[in-house]
Amino acid sequence: MFNVILFGAPGSGKGTQSEKLIQAYQFLHLSTGDILRNEIANNTPLGIEAKSIMAEGKLVSDNIVIGMIKNKVNDNLNVNGFLFDGFPRTIEQAKSLDNLLAEKNTTIHIVICLDVAEPELKKRLLERGKVSGRPDDVNETIIAQRVEEYHNRTSLVANYYKQFNKVVHVQGEGKIEDIYASIKQHITRLQSLS
Ligand code: AMP
Repeated sequence: MFNVILFGAPGSGKGTQSEKLIQAYQFLHLSTGDILRNEIANNTPLGIEAKSIMAEGKLVSDNIVIGMIKNKVNDNLNVNGFLFDGFPRTIEQAKSLDNLLAEKNTTIHIVICLDVAEPELKKRLLERGKVSGRPDDVNETIIAQRVEEYHNRTSLVANYYKQFNKVVHVQGEGKIEDIYASIKQHITRLQSLS
């Protein structure tokens, strides 16, 4: 198994790059944002609980997202690897993920951090809101709240993985294909070593 965390602020391009990566490498794509939106669409108790928190641009509780990821990992132990997108977003989530993967005799092999400047992030999210229909993409206050959650809590996750030398940075501004090529280079280099 080869496991990747695609890391970056909201609007950094994680979703776009994930789509390309899962096609090229047959990773199982685990996006906690997508799973939560699916729960909301199906009106499940979990979806009902998460809906208002997400609408405010705040992070859903660690217990909820860790539980969701555990279920998905346990149900898919035969895959080539997992591509985690939008998870982990707190140190607590990162530690739980590490423990979960260790139990399965695997690990996170690389954390790819997409670097995008803040004004560009906000511009992209507003643009996406025009077509995505996502309630958390249309309002500038909510977008600012999401970026703040990223700075206050999620950015610490990159530091956590740095101590294990797992983090690489990719310039997330520019052509989608160029960004994708840089990501692939990092994965190929690491896969050839393992
Ligand atoms: P995303 O699609 O990754 O931008 O996530 C949309 C929203 O879902 C976030 O603003 C959070 O409210 C919630 N969410 C997604 N992933 C997580 C996570 N790992 N931890 C906490 N909340 C999350």
